[in-house]
Amino acid sequence: MGRVALVTGGSRGIGAAISTALKDMGCSVAATYAGNDEKAAAFTAETGIKTYKWNVADYDACKDGVAQIEADLGPVEILINNAGITRDAPFHKMTPQQWHECIDTNLNGVFNMTHNVWGGMRERKFGRIVTISSINGQKGQFAQANYAATKAGDIGFTKSLAQEGARAGITVNIVAPGYINTEMMSTIPEKVMNEVILPQIPVGRLGEAAEIARAVCFLASDDAGFVTGSTLSANGGQYLA
Ligand code: NDP
Repeated sequence: MGRVALVTGGSRGIGAAISTALKDMGCSVAATYAGNDEKAAAFTAETGIKTYKWNVADYDACKDGVAQIEADLGPVEILINNAGITRDAPFHKMTPQQWHECIDTNLNGVFNMTHNVWGGMRERKFGRIVTISSINGQKGQFAQANYAATKAGDIGFTKSLAQEGARAGITVNIVAPGYINTEMMSTIPEKVMNEVILPQIPVGRLGEAAEIARAVCFLASDDAGFVTGSTLSANGGQYLA
């Protein structure tokens, strides 16, 4: 079997595409999710990829979850920090709860997961960590001060860990997607999509989850050993960081 990969939020959306692409690459994949049991069960039935439920905002749950996956599949060699949420509101209306929920999942969750695989990766002198940030963490976005802060934070976190992991064979990188064709996008009215969103994207279309997955697979591969601390923007040319 190939390497063991853990994908948080790997049961649907971009995460599901990443999980299946890593499986196609030969990895043994574990996909986690927060609470949508029905979706996770359907994903497992369709792909054969086992799913595990816990909240990435809970450090002890991450510790126990990683231990369970390692008992089932072996040491985690590839971690994809994909789980993420939005809690949008213009800042004057943003509640402390909206702020903290975003920080807890998108930033603390990345700490909680990474911290629980880091020791093992250091001991084994190999690791691949890829975190899914966002174009909005690079450029900011109206009504997303909380989300953008977390996604920018993930980039700083990654650049720091890349330096700490380098001599231990651990690479740490970011993929920063632009607008991707997921369930989230299907709620946007057609007029807004055609007149506001698409004109901002030079390639003239949304990205596909599979395109993000391919970028992740490269960074997660053995071939990418000289790439660390980098941010791979996949946004159709919308923002040139
Ligand atoms: P989805 O909302 O489709 O899926 C999110 C996944 O994360 C689900 O599996 C969900 O589990 C899981 N999840 C959410 N919160 C938690 C939590 N607290 N603990 C554990 N798992 C959790 O997300 P997308 O596919 O749209 O986005 C994936 C990532 O890509 C996110 O980090 C997002 O910020 C980023 N991104 C997305 C873009 C887009 O256009 N969609 C653009 C740029 C970045 P469950 O199914 O149980 O709810």
